[in-house]
Amino acid sequence: MASPIAAPGRVKEVTSAANPIIKDIRLLEKKRHREETNSFLAEGMKLIIDAMNAGWRLKTLIHAASAKGNEAVTALATRAVAAGADVLIVPERLLGQITRRDNPQMVVGVMQRRFADAASIRPGADDLWIALDRVRDPGNLGTIIRTADAGGARGVILVGETTDPFATETVRATMGSIFAVPVARMTAEAFKGFAGDWPGQIIGTHLEGSVDYRVPDYASGPILLLMGNEQAGLPADLADLCTTLIRIPQAGRADSLNLAVATGLALYEARRHAFAVAGDPS
Ligand code: SAM
Repeated sequence: MASPIAAPGRVKEVTSAANPIIKDIRLLEKKRHREETNSFLAEGMKLIIDAMNAGWRLKTLIHAASAKGNEAVTALATRAVAAGADVLIVPERLLGQITRRDNPQMVVGVMQRRFADAASIRPGADDLWIALDRVRDPGNLGTIIRTADAGGARGVILVGETTDPFATETVRATMGSIFAVPVARMTAEAFKGFAGDWPGQIIGTHLEGSVDYRVPDYASGPILLLMGNEQAGLPADLADLCTTLIRIPQAGRADSLNLAVATGLALYEARRHAFAVAGDPS
């Protein structure tokens, strides 16, 4: 049966949590339903506008009944209908149930998912892509996508079984960068082929890396920055694909850095040349 989310261009007031459209939207907390409907939730007006401006498809706009006279909400609802999306006007209580939040945003969107096509990645000389081996933690993934955006990475490649980039917690953690950073996915086997064709350096981060992370010449790209799984680190078969294994020095008792922090440090070091400080001769 087609998902009721897909019906376009209608404005409706809904007050009951038992309404099938609301039930369908609430199911988006489950990965399987996000996959089956190719949809996910984005919270907040700015995020939805940014997403639409970046060409992402809004399927359904849900806004609080209390926001009815609000000029900005009305403008967004008009734009949503023109773009073929449904608009649902609901009591705040229902928005709380949809987002599972006590203080929900006044506006929530059901967006169409979008993955970058791995086969069409053609890295330019100055490009850096981040590859994540079996990333598990939604907060880590969201933070990495946000950091990739800020640090000027061209995109993120999810390798193997990973947490879903379109989980609500992950989308929240990206703070909107999910709409700006291409995210591709591939199996470990496909990644090996991809890495074999990579025209530049493949820099793996490893607790036993033999090279300090400040040493490689990152300006000669393109760079593929490979990060290991939170628990297991980089497995030997992926570490073997790397032209260099870098280590970030540590003091103290921690046996490793958090994955998102390690990604941020390595990314910013690798992109240092792109963030030249005015007046700094280095
Ligand atoms: N127990 C894991 C191990 O043995 O690798 C720890 C994994 S760590 C939490 C997750 C990933 O962050 C690592 O696989 C690596 O990619 C990166 N990482 C964390 N600390 C690092 C460090 N000091 N140097 C290089 N990479 C690091």
